[in-house]
Amino acid sequence: MEEREGIVFDIKELSLYDGPGLRCTVFLKGCPMRCVWCHNPEGISPEPEIMRSAFGTRMVGARYTASALTEKIFSYLPLFKRPEDGITFSGGEPMTQAEFLADVMRRLKGRVNMIVQTSGYAKRPHFAAVIREADIIYFDLKIMDGKLHKFYTGVDNALILENLKYMNDAGYKYRIRVPLIPGVTDTPENYRGIRDFVRGNLCDKNNLTGLDLLPYNPSAGGKYKGLGREYSPGFDESRAVRIDPGCLRETVKEVKVL
Ligand code: SF4
Repeated sequence: MEEREGIVFDIKELSLYDGPGLRCTVFLKGCPMRCVWCHNPEGISPEPEIMRSAFGTRMVGARYTASALTEKIFSYLPLFKRPEDGITFSGGEPMTQAEFLADVMRRLKGRVNMIVQTSGYAKRPHFAAVIREADIIYFDLKIMDGKLHKFYTGVDNALILENLKYMNDAGYKYRIRVPLIPGVTDTPENYRGIRDFVRGNLCDKNNLTGLDLLPYNPSAGGKYKGLGREYSPGFDESRAVRIDPGCLRETVKEVKVL
């Protein structure tokens, strides 16, 4: 039987914001969302593509079989000395390659700590197949108002919230991550919306380990040009982000600003 193939657009050997400890992050290509602030535009198309930069031209996106990617990840294992060190799968949206990813994760299970970062925008069978293999899930929560969510990300948030609740109720260990985008996700209404959703739907178990606030990175637009696209985010990038962990600390035991 032929092996499943997936497409990876980057492997970062030392990442700082993708989990605790020393992490190696594998970025899977493809995302069904279109967040106006996306800082990984090369992760959106599911296919390899050409990217230009000051250093020249390169193809973004390499095909791996599940066994080849597993072997590659095995080569990093000697770097990991502590239990919290490990691999983070990110994207794009890694669930767009759910069968491939779940296959790789099953091969690695028990050998290394595994985090999956997801927007939660995935069909339930795909979502369930991946989260069951992870040690912890980092779940992005962006905008609570459905209409604004659709406006800024291109998709409705109902499926995302259903998957979040499913993950919570099923007892999986997870962490919420909120990108703070000026005037978009950092509004008082959105902070309150997140707090109220957590309070009303997610506080009955102890599997929510904390919440991270990730202030907008002003260099986000840099890669668009290299892909022949224009970055026009539609919000005021120069405006300072509102950082209000206090609002969320009313319901989540650990809130960090990264
Ligand atoms: S979900 Fe993430 S990868 Fe997808 S468009 Fe939004 S920011 Fe970019």
